[in-house]
Amino acid sequence: MKDLYDVIVVGAGPAGSTAARYAAADGASVMVLEKDRDVGYPVRCAEAVSHEGVAQFIEPDPKWIAATVSKFRIVVPNGNSIVPRLDGIGYILERRIFDYELAKLAVQEGAELVTKAYVYDLLKVNGKIEGVRALIKDQKVEIRSKVVVGADGVESRVGKWAGIDTTCHIHDMESCAQVTLSGVSVEDGILDFYFGEKVAPGGYLWVFPKGRNTANVGIGISVETAKERAPVRYLEDFIEKRYPNAAVLTRIAGGVPCATTCDEIVKNNVILVGDAAHQVNPVSGGGIISGMIGGMLAGQVAAEAIRRNDLTFLREYEARWHKRLGWRHEVFYCIKEAIYEFSDETLNKLCDEARKLPEEKRTVGGIFRTALWNRPSLLLEVAKVFIS
Ligand SMILES: Cc1cc2nc3c(=O)[nH]c(=O)nc-3n(C[C@H](O)[C@H](O)[C@H](O)COP(=O)(O)OP(=O)(O)OC[C@H]3O[C@@H](n4cnc5c(N)ncnc54)[C@H](O)[C@@H]3O)c2cc1C
Repeated sequence: MKDLYDVIVVGAGPAGSTAARYAAADGASVMVLEKDRDVGYPVRCAEAVSHEGVAQFIEPDPKWIAATVSKFRIVVPNGNSIVPRLDGIGYILERRIFDYELAKLAVQEGAELVTKAYVYDLLKVNGKIEGVRALIKDQKVEIRSKVVVGADGVESRVGKWAGIDTTCHIHDMESCAQVTLSGVSVEDGILDFYFGEKVAPGGYLWVFPKGRNTANVGIGISVETAKERAPVRYLEDFIEKRYPNAAVLTRIAGGVPCATTCDEIVKNNVILVGDAAHQVNPVSGGGIISGMIGGMLAGQVAAEAIRRNDLTFLREYEARWHKRLGWRHEVFYCIKEAIYEFSDETLNKLCDEARKLPEEKRTVGGIFRTALWNRPSLLLEVAKVFIS
């Protein structure tokens, strides 16, 4: 271990490994600290990504692709459904292997990585952050760096230690439960999303095929709603009805911050990426690719700040993130707020209207326009993002 690193990354999820990879590729000395024994495990994810999103970072490889999908279906409360036209494909990953590959890419660029390395505080000297304090193989160590990247996921503490407000309101925090089922008959190549008061109030339930009669079946609803009834109860009801004889291979629970990006993602020499910065798409709850984009921008900016010997340059990361995805997440947030308030009746009506659209107009955009027609105030909410 070196006496001093340019960058310490806390957490080897997709955002952390990508930040480390790009910082190292641009010449910074990088140390990644991961608290778990294995990178990529345990998996708390439904594992869906778009080809377009993932291919900008890594060549798709069958070893971490469990299934390829080319369609998605929205099922509304009365059981009707619509399959919007999609211009691309997506994958259900084997995240355990995928995360591992991302970490390997960082190491190939020269980053060092240590597992079973739990960061329990920032190293502060006369009020200045000079690295982290960690527990590595039961030994307390101090590791020094010029920049600290908090990539420690939804339960991030790095931000709080640095004085950044990372609180996510319970209304925006999705509480999720998921099982991986085997022995189920699911249609390959299509992602199913179920909406409605009885199935997933204020959220949605998903069935993602993983190949060989296996599927990730999960639900995400706001913590606010989950206080009334736990998401796992809705999930159990669904499985009891649909897949009563399935074998449960894994059970997971976790949170997703479906909010806009934290107001501050850089403070002095600490920067946040991925779930730690709330870089998740607020509508879909997908945070793998957006976290990797955040990680890439953070890694590049951190390396450049080191080269310039000017840590005030780290602020540039905030600007680049906002330009690349942050502003879009603000639009998506408005859309989420509207969609999740739709009554069962409105959802049924929307589906009927959308099914009347000619095949070529049955795109996500076409369906969204139908939703606008049914709720014109949504347009105003979205417009606010552009004029604020
Ligand atoms: C049920 C569920 C389903 C989901 N489905 C999807 C989906 O289908 N598609 C999608 O795109 N997204 C999905 N997401 C969201 C996605 O999993 C996250 O957005 C993504 O993993 C964020 O990556 P990250 O690198 O920011 O954080 P993480 O992947 O959470 O990685 C953070 C890492 O930091 C480590 N760490 C934490 N604290 C410390 C510490 N103190 N010291 C050292 N290491 C530490 C952790 O062990 C972990 O390895 C889902 C989430 C859930 C809960």
